Amino acid sequence: MSQGTLLITGGAGYIGSHTVRHLLDQHERVVVLDNLVFGHRSALPLDRMTFVEGDMADAAFVESVFATHKPEAVLHFAAFAYVGESVTNPLKYYRNNLAAPLTLLEAMQRHDCKRFIFSSTCATYGDPVRIPIDESHPQAPVNPYGASKWMLERVLRDCDRAWGLKSVFLRYFNASGCHPSGEIGEDHNPETHLIPLVLKAARGEIEHITVFGTDYPTPDGTCIRDYIHVCDLASAHALALKYLRDGGDTIAVNLGTGRGFSVKEIIATAETVTGKKIPVQYGDRRAGDPAELIANPALAADILGWKAQNLDPQEHIESAWKWLSGSHGGRYQD
Ligand code: UDP
Repeated sequence: MSQGTLLITGGAGYIGSHTVRHLLDQHERVVVLDNLVFGHRSALPLDRMTFVEGDMADAAFVESVFATHKPEAVLHFAAFAYVGESVTNPLKYYRNNLAAPLTLLEAMQRHDCKRFIFSSTCATYGDPVRIPIDESHPQAPVNPYGASKWMLERVLRDCDRAWGLKSVFLRYFNASGCHPSGEIGEDHNPETHLIPLVLKAARGEIEHITVFGTDYPTPDGTCIRDYIHVCDLASAHALALKYLRDGGDTIAVNLGTGRGFSVKEIIATAETVTGKKIPVQYGDRRAGDPAELIANPALAADILGWKAQNLDPQEHIESAWKWLSGSHGGRYQD
């Protein structure tokens, strides 16, 4: 049941656009704020929602959005997310992921908007000291991307203490898959993620997939990740919103399946889904990649009543393959 208006920053991006669809299907009233640096206008169902193009760091613009739409809650997706680039250009990440949201938070404080759902990440934990990772695992990010998200969590906790802002930090594991309709999906430029690259190799768009490291202490020597379907992430946001509307306190929650799959397993599954032999090259480790990242998702079940529904990466790969195989070839036109 719809209550107030939801302001969704970065709603034209990959995870944001899937969440927008989900919230609209739940009859929520949605305003998307996106500067379209990485987002795509055509990822948005413009007939069902309001789109405001602009930057969350632009104080006058953000003020006008709050004055016009008076949002009840903010879902904050807008961020840069290239880990490697964050290492070589940290200020870009601290500027966009940490400093820019302060403008948004100042507007929230002025307008007495006290519900915030934050796209955080398992990268705030850094190299795991235990698997599976629960929310009490030490937070020791090993790159500026993870650090920028961890620092904003800290800012949000301070805002809670000072003026009662209630936040849910959703710490995503490896987002993957696309909407089952094939209408929206993952379109990053450049693309760096495993599943879309494996599928691009299957389509012949790239020559091969390079496997980053085969000497990890895992059963097949390749890294293990917890792949969480983007539609499951979307449903978690709706439940986080319900949690805050019901008076929930600020909390951090992992979003993962609790299961891990290796790079080699993902490639083998993609060969089954596509029916194609995928050209593979074995390369060196990528800097900063832990051997294994698997969530303990128990708290999300307890607190939000959320559980991932798409547990098999085959389903993720099938939906991503459908998106890539569409007439648009997995590319938005804008
Ligand atoms: N990976 C790989 N080749 C690639 C891209 C990724 O072997 O071209 C591996 C990467 O080392 C990691 C896993 O696939 O172990 C998932 O990487 P991705 O970049 O998709 O997500 P991340 O774990 O960095 O969030």
